[in-house]
Amino acid sequence: MRPPVPPSGPSFEHPADIIACVGGSLLAVFAHPDDETFGAGGALARAARQGVHVALVCATRGEVGEIADPEIATPETLGEVRERELRCAAARLGAAEVSFLGYRDSGMAGTPENDDPRAFARAGEAEVVRALVGHVRRLRPEVVLTFDANGGYGHPDHMAIHRHTMAAVAVAADPSAHPSLGPPWTVRRVFYPVIPRARFRELRERLAAGGVDAAFLADAERMLERLPDERVDVTLDVRGSVEAKLAALACHATQMPADHPFRALPEDLAREAMATEFFAIGLPEGLRAAPPADLFDGI
Ligand SMILES: [Zn+2]
Repeated sequence: MRPPVPPSGPSFEHPADIIACVGGSLLAVFAHPDDETFGAGGALARAARQGVHVALVCATRGEVGEIADPEIATPETLGEVRERELRCAAARLGAAEVSFLGYRDSGMAGTPENDDPRAFARAGEAEVVRALVGHVRRLRPEVVLTFDANGGYGHPDHMAIHRHTMAAVAVAADPSAHPSLGPPWTVRRVFYPVIPRARFRELRERLAAGGVDAAFLADAERMLERLPDERVDVTLDVRGSVEAKLAALACHATQMPADHPFRALPEDLAREAMATEFFAIGLPEGLRAAPPADLFDGI
């Protein structure tokens, strides 16, 4: 008998690449195009490779984000361009679908964009929750990813999407609520992507040891100061998804100006930083006593 022909495609070099097929469905609910890639791109790509149906719901088109290069977008076209960037990133991560809630980016706290009547942070709870319940009941996800209550660093849209997603998860399970949106569905787990403080400290120290000025990381570290290390429940090895994550990041060209902190990292360190992702358990609270090794572990 002839030996089997090795499969073509990506080579599997790390233990993290050898993953069981779990099936299932994962819904990631974020506020702006690029939120999905920075904190959870590895987990999304990993789940997609496990055979999970990965769906992204994005509240806005990120109309108030950066414009890294005036050649690729103007303030008028930024939303449209960022929609394309998110669809590109989703494809690189292996996500099966992308939906938008259609609100406008509210901008950072205290900016005039906060007052735009279309701003997501001003959207009525009932309206947003209803739209999200529709997605939950249609997709029937076991696992939902969204921001933590502080939205990672206090962005009003991040905090709003946390609030509305948690409400929608509860409402979706209630058979008496919105029967026209389909049968009730109980999400088993909610996770929040987080970056522990210790991780920043470590990165800063290593950069300093290598002679790289790491002052830019101190700002990010201060922003995330409210997140204590003990809120990290799941540390996920996503080495097998680093290429997909880098490709997804490259899609978000408008958000990656030449002076972006990430570009200041030496490539090996950037890859290493991307190879691990951290999650806090949002629901069920009891899972924190014995956190799973993987988002779908034990489901
Ligand atoms: Zn965002």
